[in-house]
Amino acid sequence: MCLRHPGPFIPEATTTEGIDNHRLAGAGIYLDYAATTPVDPAVACAMSDFLTLGGTFGNPASLMHSFGQAASVAVEDARCEVAALVSSTPEEIVWTSGATEAINLALKGSAFARRDRGRHIVTSPLEHRAVLDSAEWLESQGFEIGYVELDDDGGVTREGLSRALRPDTVLVSLMLVNNETGTITDIAALGPQIREQGALFHVDAVQGAARLPMGDIAISADLISISAHKMYGPKGIGALRVRRPILGELVPQMHGGRQELGLRSGTLPTHQIVGMGEAARLARQHGEADARHVASLDRKLRAHLDRISGVSLNGSAQQRVSGILNVNFADVAAEALMIGLESVAISSGSACTSSEVMPSHVLLALGLGNERALSSVRFSFGRFTTMDEIDHVGLLLAEIVPALQKLSR
Ligand SMILES: *Cc1c(COP(=O)(O)O)cnc(C)c1O
Repeated sequence: MCLRHPGPFIPEATTTEGIDNHRLAGAGIYLDYAATTPVDPAVACAMSDFLTLGGTFGNPASLMHSFGQAASVAVEDARCEVAALVSSTPEEIVWTSGATEAINLALKGSAFARRDRGRHIVTSPLEHRAVLDSAEWLESQGFEIGYVELDDDGGVTREGLSRALRPDTVLVSLMLVNNETGTITDIAALGPQIREQGALFHVDAVQGAARLPMGDIAISADLISISAHKMYGPKGIGALRVRRPILGELVPQMHGGRQELGLRSGTLPTHQIVGMGEAARLARQHGEADARHVASLDRKLRAHLDRISGVSLNGSAQQRVSGILNVNFADVAAEALMIGLESVAISSGSACTSSEVMPSHVLLALGLGNERALSSVRFSFGRFTTMDEIDHVGLLLAEIVPALQKLSR
C-alpha cells in the first residue's frame, strides 16, 4: 500500500506535497506540458504497489498462479479505464510502449493488411514525426503517400480530404489535436467520407484524449493512438485502440509471446499499465475541472501577450484547445527568448540536429516561412500550473520581448 497517497486532486488548490517541494526548491516554471506532463502523485502512488515482492509483481500472463492472476486483474482493470476514456470496449485496447509504437502498429499493421486492395495512404503535413516517418518508411515499401492540402486557417477540411482521397486509398492518418499549435481537427466530420471510400482511419489522439470528449471520435476512427505521459501518466506506456472488426486483420509488428491477441508480443509492464489506467481514471474524473483551470490560465496568458507588441498566435484562433499556445514574437529569435526566460521551460518547436537549428515542420506547413517559424515558441501548461506562474511568465515576457526586439532592430 502506498503511504503517501495524496488523495483526490483538486486543480483549484494544488497543495500536494511533491508539488510544494518542487516550488520550494526553485526548480523553475514548467510550461512544456505538450512535451510531457509530470506524473500525477496519485498515479505514481498506484504504480508503486506493482513492483516489489510485497506488491503485485507477477507476470500478468502467468495465469497458473495467484501472483500472475493478481497482476492480470490489475492490467484488465486498467484496460477498462483506458477503454472508457476513449469510448471503446476493453477488448479493443492493445498496450504498447507509447504512442510512437501505437502509431507504427496502426500505420504499418493496417497498410500491410490492406496492401492487396491498394497502396495509397493519406495523411497531413502537420502530423507528429511518428506518423510522418512511418509513412515515409511505408513509401520505401511500395506505398504511395498523399498529403492533404490545408485550408487558409491551417486546418484539414472535408474538401481538402476529398481531393486527397483516391479509390486505392487504404488508410488515412490524421491527428485530433496538434501538439505544436493546439489546433483541433474535426475528426467526426471527416470520418464518414473515409469509411465511404473503404479506407481505414487512424487518429493520433495523444494530445486530445484527456482534453476532448472522445465519443464521436471513437465512432469515426478505426484506430486511435494514445500515450500516458501526455496525460499525467508515466512515460513508456501507450495504447492503440483497434475497432473490433479489424482486430483480426491488423498485421503485428512485434513477434514473440503472442500477448495482446498476438498483436503486440512482449511481457506486459504491469506498473506502467496501472499508471496509465489511473491517469485515464483521473482524466475522466477531473476532466472538467482540468479544462476550466487550463482555460482560465490560457485566457490569462493571452491577456499578458496582448499587451506586448509584435505578438501573434500561430495556428487557428478558434479551433484550438486551451493549454497549448504557439506564439510568434516578431524580430525575436526563439533561442534568445528561451535564454532570456532562463528558468521557464518552454519549447521552440524546432529540432536541433547537430548545430543546425531546424524550423518546425508544422509551422512551415502552416506557411510561416523560416524566419517566422524560428521566432515562435510554444507555451503549454496543465493541471499543476498555477495562475501565479502564468503571471510571472507574463510579466517576464513584457520585459524581455521589447528589449530583444530593440536589439534586433
Ligand atoms: C508525444 C506525441 C506522440 C508520441 O508519443 P510517445 O508516447 O512519446 O511515443 C505522438 N503524437 C503526438 C501528437 C504527441 O504529442
